[in-house]
Order: sequence, then structure tokens, then C-alpha cells
Amino acid sequence: MKTADVTIVGGGMVGLACTCLLAREGFEVIVADAGPAASWDPADIPGRVSALNLATKRLLEHVGVWDAILEGRATPYRAMSVWDSDSGARIRFDAAEEGVPALGYIVENALVAVAMLERLRQNYRVGIHHEVPIDGMEPADGDADGVVRLRLRGGETIASRLVVAADGARSTLRALAGIGADEQDFHQDAVVATLETSRPHVQTAYQVFTPRGPIAMLPLQGNQCSLVWSRDRADDEDLLALDAAEFCGRLEGHFGSRLGSVGLVGDRLSFPLGSRHAESYLGNRLALVGDAAHTVHPLAGLGANLGMQDAAALVETVAAARDAGKGIGSHSVLRRYERWRRGENGIAINAMKGFKRVFGSTLEPVRHSREAAFRVADGVMPLKHWLAQYALGTRGDLPMACRPAIEEEIP
Ligand SMILES: Cc1cc2nc3c(=O)[nH]c(=O)nc-3n(C[C@H](O)[C@H](O)[C@H](O)COP(=O)(O)OP(=O)(O)OC[C@H]3O[C@@H](n4cnc5c(N)ncnc54)[C@H](O)[C@@H]3O)c2cc1C
Repeated sequence: MKTADVTIVGGGMVGLACTCLLAREGFEVIVADAGPAASWDPADIPGRVSALNLATKRLLEHVGVWDAILEGRATPYRAMSVWDSDSGARIRFDAAEEGVPALGYIVENALVAVAMLERLRQNYRVGIHHEVPIDGMEPADGDADGVVRLRLRGGETIASRLVVAADGARSTLRALAGIGADEQDFHQDAVVATLETSRPHVQTAYQVFTPRGPIAMLPLQGNQCSLVWSRDRADDEDLLALDAAEFCGRLEGHFGSRLGSVGLVGDRLSFPLGSRHAESYLGNRLALVGDAAHTVHPLAGLGANLGMQDAAALVETVAAARDAGKGIGSHSVLRRYERWRRGENGIAINAMKGFKRVFGSTLEPVRHSREAAFRVADGVMPLKHWLAQYALGTRGDLPMACRPAIEEEIP
């Protein structure tokens, strides 16, 4: 039987961030992931990417992997241009207006994972196990020193004082702990692809809201962009079935001519979209983080960013408990983490549901108020600044690892 202070189930971006933070605090950690280890090669066509905000950048700096990510491939975006296809009303956010060098960075998920795995292997004695799904959990006894036993497929067990469920939207651990979730299927899929554009993106992230779903074009290196095209599933047109020329033609029709003509680079992938919020972030010596705790519509690029803040808040809470001589898996300690993060994540989930409803509506009064809201948000500077701060991840009760370093300029 293996033993550790903390076992992280799930080695995605959030699970690995949690592992790096815990290892940095001196905890003994084991990570068990169902999938193979992430790999990344500069010659690869960029795969899945995320828009990472400044709070996440700071966390990645804090755990010592940001330089490796920059040396790999990361594209800063210095502006964000968002418009309503119906009315043409628009809002534009600018890094210069916010007093920051960039609003965020578009980074490949695999590169983030590889940078964290390298850091862990080179600097800490962390047990990292791949292709070992957890399929059983035996809760701890009531006493303060109790341990949870996890069963790996194949029969081996891991015993630890705290288990972190970072096993994604369809979390096995959430189900094993009997924690329900408030779920909503958006009846939409997001088609993701890398594109070459004939006009430069000028380090701007673009998003158009159409009645059938938002289309985002995120800047990559050179003249490449990452497309996230969210579409109602009931739509009679299967975007994956179209050939490359038809697909690009349809896209240009909906997105417009800002980036000129587009060409597909590599494959298209499709992801079902929904929203989910776990009814509790806690079980017996168990804490849920990232997509295991919440899933949001990708239209604001928030999911991974919120998950990173969960990881930082959990580790900060647990480290403070240890320093105060308290049990790291005790209910009162984990409850503090839940109180910190659940409300904040709930606001984001509800805001994204609201956006989706308002932008999907063709009702005349809703269309008018949508247009008015765009004009007000773009014209009233304090409101625009507030929205920008939210997108930057500089607003709210941030964990220490996500806050600016003393020497960093505070806008
Ligand atoms: C189209 C799209 C675009 C997005 N764009 C953005 C964006 O721009 N910015 C942003 O912040 N977010 C974005 N997101 C959201 C973001 O991708 C997720 O929030 C984030 O990847 C969640 O990370 P995670 O580590 O919590 O979960 P996951 O990445 O799902 O990782 C879960 C891990 O758990 C492992 N696992 C599963 N079951 C088990 C088990 N039983 N035992 C052991 N291991 C297990 C899996 O192998 C996996 O490695 C987007 C999402 C989509 C769908």
C-alpha cells in the first residue's frame, strides 16, 4: 500500500497545479491519473488551448513553471473585441487602458501540464502515476488521524489524510462520495480547431455572439488562431461533416471578414457543453476542485482559471491548518475552503448561464436591451473597467498565490 499526506486524483491542469502548490509547501503528495502523461512538441499543431488570465499566470509563476511555458509557446492578447452579430454593437477591452502589458495569454493545455510535470519530477519527490484510474474509495474512520483508502484499478491502494478530486467534469470521486450536482445541458457543442487567417490578428481575442452560439477566435503564433465555435446541437448542419472548404466558408459567413479568409490547420474536435455545480465541495477527507466541482460555458474562458484559484485556495487553507497544528482533512478546515470558493464559482456559473440565454434570444425586447447593454458597457468607463478586472482575474478574494508580487506594478 502506498501512503501520502495528500492524494490528487486527476492529473489535468488543475490537479497538477494543486500538486505543485502542495509539494512547494512540503507535503508528501501522490497523483493518480487515468490517462497517459501529457506530451508536447513545438512541431505539433497547437491542440486544445486556454485563455489564461493574470491570476493564473501569477500562480504558474509562483510554482516556477511560467518561464518554461513562455519558452514553449504562449501568445499574449493585448485586446479583446466582442460584438453582437444582430445589432453590430460592440465592446473592446485594451491592455493599455487597464495598465497591464496583456489581458491574458493563450496557452496550449498540454504545454501547461508538461511544464508542471517537469517541475515536479526535477524538484520534488512526488509519486506520479499515469493510466491508473481510481475506482474505489473507503472513507476514513471518525478519528482525527484517520486516512482515506483509494483503490486503483488493478487492486493497489493509496492511503492519505486528504484526497483531492481533480478528476474532471464526470468526476468518479464525486459520484463515489455521493455528492450530487446541479446540472444543465446547454444542448450545444463547441467545435475547436486551429486556423490560418489571411489577415493578422494583432494579438486580439475576438468573440462574436450569434443567435446560434458564440464564436471565439483566439490569437496564436504568427497568423494562426484557435477557433471555439459553440453551436446549438439541434442545428441541422453538422459542422464536423462539412469538408474543410465548406466549413471555412460557413465560418467566414458567421464570423465576418475581420481576419480575412481562413484555412483549417489540422483536425476539428467537438465538445458537449453544459454547466454543472457540485452540491458540496466536501466529502469525508475529500475536497473537490476544478471541473470536478464546477463546469462553466467556455464563452468567457473561465473554467481552468477558476479551477486554478480553487487549487490555490485549498492549498492555502490546508497549509495554514497544518501550521496551526490542525488536521489537514478535518471537516472544519475543508469547510473554510468551500466557503471561500463555492460562492465565487456560483456567480461565474450563473453569469455564463445568463449570457447564454440573453445572447441566444431572438425576442425583440431582449435584442434591444442586449444592444443597449453593449453600448452602456463600452461607454461607461467604471463599468467597463470593472468587467475588465473580472476577466483579468484581478477582482475578488484571490488566494495569495494568485496575487501580484510586491514588485509587480498594480494597475
Ligand atoms: C471548448 C472549450 C474551451 C475552453 N476554453 C477555456 C479557456 O479559454 N480558459 C479557461 O480557463 N478554461 C477553458 N475551458 C475549460 C477548461 O478546459 C477546463 O475547465 C479545465 O481543463 C479543467 O481542468 P481539470 O484539471 O479540472 O479537469 P480535466 O482537464 O478534465 O482533467 C481531469 C483529469 O482527471 C483524470 N481522471 C478522470 N477520471 C479519473 C479517475 N477515475 N481516476 C484518476 N484520474 C481520473 C483525467 O484523465 C484527466 O487527466 C474550455 C473548455 C472547453 C470545453
